[in-house]
Amino acid sequence: MRLRNVTGSREVIADSRFVIHEPEKQKGNWKEIFGNSNPIHIEIGMGKGRFMMDMAAAHPDINYLGIEKYSTVLLRAIQKMEQQELPNLRFIRMDAEDICEVFEKEEIAKIYLNFSDPWPKDRHAKRRLPSKEFLARYDRFLQKDGRLEFKTDNQGLFDFALEELEPAGWKLEAVTRDLHHDEKMCEGNIMTEYEEKFSSMGNPIYKYIIYR
Ligand code: SAM
Repeated sequence: MRLRNVTGSREVIADSRFVIHEPEKQKGNWKEIFGNSNPIHIEIGMGKGRFMMDMAAAHPDINYLGIEKYSTVLLRAIQKMEQQELPNLRFIRMDAEDICEVFEKEEIAKIYLNFSDPWPKDRHAKRRLPSKEFLARYDRFLQKDGRLEFKTDNQGLFDFALEELEPAGWKLEAVTRDLHHDEKMCEGNIMTEYEEKFSSMGNPIYKYIIYR
């Protein structure tokens, strides 16, 4: 993700009603934010928010939280929400390393990881969002019957993610190495910004759905 210094992004975020500003204070009480008991699905590393916006519009009975580390990127999602406000979507600016401080046990029904940063150096493997270290974090707040869906065009990251499942105690429910030509797994697929970009270059899209 190219990071340009967007003037005033922190100020815009601080003033935005679409952003949950002290997410750790909501731990265990996320239903209050949405005013209903609908399931909550999250995308970690949301980027500019297209996937979250399209999912929230398509599934009004599900609540969505888009998590993004960088203000300059989150700003783009806020601008989209200002054009098309969705009551079932809110944003959090945070590093996912701290995610267990924000969600209580069983609080989240589904996790999406889309085109996560690959962190190619071995010494940075723990920073990869589908690593066993992150899977252990997700285990603490994902519902028992919850699912995690991961898409990427990066073969190395996908192979790594598959290898991490067994040591972390997760199981494969479904997997494809060419999502856009897999009729069953592609049904209802909503493209992310990166998915559109890389699939238009001819890259196959890898996807798994996992549970424990
Ligand atoms: N998911 C979007 C998509 O598919 O179009 C964006 C993909 S982009 C390659 C990865 C995004 O994840 C970036 O916006 C980056 O800032 C964010 N990100 C990476 N590590 C993160 C972390 N530890 N916590 C929160 N966001 C993170």
